[in-house]
Amino acid sequence: MPRPLIATIDIAALRSNLALAKARAPHSRAWAVVKANAYGHGLERGMRGFAAADGLGLIELDAAARLRELGWKKRILLLEGFFDASDPQLLAEHQLDTVIHCEEQLLMLEQARLQTKIDVHLKLNSGMNRLGFTPAKYRAAYERLRAIPAVDHISFVTHFANAEDPDNPVLPVQEQLRRFREATRDLPGEQSMANSATDLLHPGSAADWIRPGIMLYGATPGGQSAEQFGLRPAMSLNSEIIGVQHIVAGDAVGYGSAFVATGPMTIGVVACGYADGYPRHAPSGTPVIVDGVKTRMVGRVSMDMITVDLTPVAKPCVGSKVTLWGAGLPIDEVANAAGTVGYELMCGLASRVKVVEV
Ligand code: PLP
Repeated sequence: MPRPLIATIDIAALRSNLALAKARAPHSRAWAVVKANAYGHGLERGMRGFAAADGLGLIELDAAARLRELGWKKRILLLEGFFDASDPQLLAEHQLDTVIHCEEQLLMLEQARLQTKIDVHLKLNSGMNRLGFTPAKYRAAYERLRAIPAVDHISFVTHFANAEDPDNPVLPVQEQLRRFREATRDLPGEQSMANSATDLLHPGSAADWIRPGIMLYGATPGGQSAEQFGLRPAMSLNSEIIGVQHIVAGDAVGYGSAFVATGPMTIGVVACGYADGYPRHAPSGTPVIVDGVKTRMVGRVSMDMITVDLTPVAKPCVGSKVTLWGAGLPIDEVANAAGTVGYELMCGLASRVKVVEV
């Protein structure tokens, strides 16, 4: 028997979450973001779950080529563009849209002398200071793109730093919007800027295209309640109890004896550790469900195991069912307890974890 640790991916949930994202922005088309192996859910599963998307957005050129092999015929957008002078030929070959965010990419595209036309998305650095041309250099970049014979349509994109915290005093969403509108004024072409937080919290900023990621997988960008938005968790991580210990006050559990019992307790050992993607820094108290009862992780996370408090569980035994996150235990709740975000937990699912679909 294999180790009892299974991630279940619910394709219908992916579909339903995309439908919800689109319904929130009814006048926009949707790039479904499938970077990082569809946020850990599997590229091919993402492709099937998001069959109704107008395009797929990702970072990895090899994964984009794989989507073509798998039969994805609609648009594919490289969200960070490309990295090497030989890449533009591959964009043309696989008919990939690309972001252009810096002088170096512009130069590579100018020098590529492509025979096939491609669509490009000119990125504005509207304040996040990660990728993009500054407002002062944006128009000149646009003119250079226009002069490249192989460039077909030019779209305009930016990315919000604080969409989940709209009134952030350092860089409010409205300020980034203002800079984007000013930089793109009178420029003909489609626009996109909305990640999940924008779609969930500022539907008015949807523009021509939305670019949701995390919400499509049934979680939220800022650890809010996904259920409240009608989102369905697409990934559930389930395991079993593989060992039980009965301890008394003063007994310690696990490495570093980081948890010490204050009274009699039943401890369960769960077949899931940080080598599976469970967050190593999750503290005692992180929620977990055993046989339908919500309880807590105690002690340090080991490579292959965690230990949980079975005291509230009626008849715990080896084989008792455990939910680490997913249906019944939102990934955002676990992430909040562990001081991280749902994104990291999803993307960190290890390759040794068996994945099944429903
Ligand atoms: N657009 C871009 C450029 C991104 O980098 C990302 C992800 O980080 C997204 C959209 C999707 O963001 P989210 O998963 O927060 O919806």
